[in-house]
Amino acid sequence: MGREAGHAVVLGASMGGLLAARALTETYARVTLLERDELPAEPLNRRGVPQGRHVHVLLPRGSQVLGSFFPGLAGELGLAGVPHTQLARQIRFVVSGHRLTRGRPGPIMLQPTRATLEHAVRRRVAALPGVEFVQGCDVSGLVTSAGRVTGARFVRRSGAGGREETVEADLVVDALGRSGRSVEWVARLGYPAPAEERIKVGIKYVSCFFRTPPGALAPEQGILVGPVPGRTRAMAFMACEGDRWLLTVAGMAGDHPPTDPGALVDFAGTIAPRDVHDVIVRSDRLSDPVTHAFPASVRRRYEKLPAHPEGLLVFGDGLCSFNPIYGQGMTVASLQAEALRACLAAGRGDLAHRFYRAAAKVIDPAWQLSAAGDLALPEITGSRPLLTRLINRYVSRLHRVGATDVAVADAFWRVAGYLDPTPALLRPRVALRVLTRG
Ligand SMILES: Cc1cc2nc3c(=O)[nH]c(=O)nc-3n(C[C@H](O)[C@H](O)[C@H](O)COP(=O)(O)OP(=O)(O)OC[C@H]3O[C@@H](n4cnc5c(N)ncnc54)[C@H](O)[C@@H]3O)c2cc1C
Repeated sequence: MGREAGHAVVLGASMGGLLAARALTETYARVTLLERDELPAEPLNRRGVPQGRHVHVLLPRGSQVLGSFFPGLAGELGLAGVPHTQLARQIRFVVSGHRLTRGRPGPIMLQPTRATLEHAVRRRVAALPGVEFVQGCDVSGLVTSAGRVTGARFVRRSGAGGREETVEADLVVDALGRSGRSVEWVARLGYPAPAEERIKVGIKYVSCFFRTPPGALAPEQGILVGPVPGRTRAMAFMACEGDRWLLTVAGMAGDHPPTDPGALVDFAGTIAPRDVHDVIVRSDRLSDPVTHAFPASVRRRYEKLPAHPEGLLVFGDGLCSFNPIYGQGMTVASLQAEALRACLAAGRGDLAHRFYRAAAKVIDPAWQLSAAGDLALPEITGSRPLLTRLINRYVSRLHRVGATDVAVADAFWRVAGYLDPTPALLRPRVALRVLTRG
């Protein structure tokens, strides 16, 4: 089969599904996305993406990848009032209890709300040749033939009287998120389930929009405060389009933020730097608090399975969903889309093995970073081999040195922004400073 031939079906049209679809359009003549929600014509939140009402950081690397997939996207979002932020210069980042000093300028980070980002990306994907969205339909299973996946089954939510329909495909991509049911569907074909790694973080988010007094935090465009041992609370207060700031307060290991607006601001006061809390107190609240619970980070090791059914790939959060406080999910999905594009450019044979191996390479550093961060908290249960404990000690020392040392802070800003691989933190120039100045 030549390039730009065949039909790919993507299950789920959230960020993962949209990015997978973008990659698939380079190889498949037709790409159909099946989505349960009716997709709004405006940048609005929707039921299938409840996490979209909370802070959604698109890291600099993710912003770069989206820019390469959709030229002009950054300019379009800028015109809509979306801040373009220098992560290392305009975000105040308090990590392991230390305020990281400002680093050198780097690539920009787009800072839209999730609804605005998804809407802009969806419009771009919808405009690509051969793309079709089937909205308002529940995917109910796969179509298989001789052990191969040859399509998907779905039920329209209205108008078809609950009748199941099928769509044929040369490739099905499951981007149904962390609760996608591919594991179960594939087990019926006799394939084993992937091993699962799980870190119970028991996190709850509570968020609402504010309008700050003009320029109250300028030139900062966001404040991020991570948890520390003994205080498993975190917060983000981020500028976004519409001249608003979104406050997300999170509590892990059962220490959950309240939903009463006044109590929420008080809770934020136990985490936020005093000047930031003062600004929140003086700001106008624009919306009621909304909540989202996230029980555990989950990674499914598809790359370790000896065999996969032909014609199916699992993508995005279905492969790995991270503790959201590290802001990695969409960036990792964009890197998976790059990996998918590269795998398809090399041909369609043995695609699942090749894709899962490539996806694991982009997931590894993000998983290590978020798992190490979680396990640095004694309140989170999980095994901590010697290497994890040594790395955590080193990283916490690095944060302490990074409070005053620009070279060390810069190394961390770049790794946190996904611009450099994690081992960059161990480069001799950085390690020497960490070990001698800590
Ligand atoms: C609280 C929270 C905060 C987060 N913050 C960040 C952040 O700051 N930065 C970041 O990069 N990432 C963040 N993430 C992660 C990010 O939201 C996801 O990584 C991203 O949405 C990609 O996920 P996905 O597309 O694979 O799955 P999802 O976003 O879960 O999308 C699944 C899609 O499938 C559809 N669907 C589900 N079942 C069916 C069905 N049976 N039939 C048809 N359609 C179906 C849903 O409607 C939805 O559209 C956060 C996540 C959470 C939970």
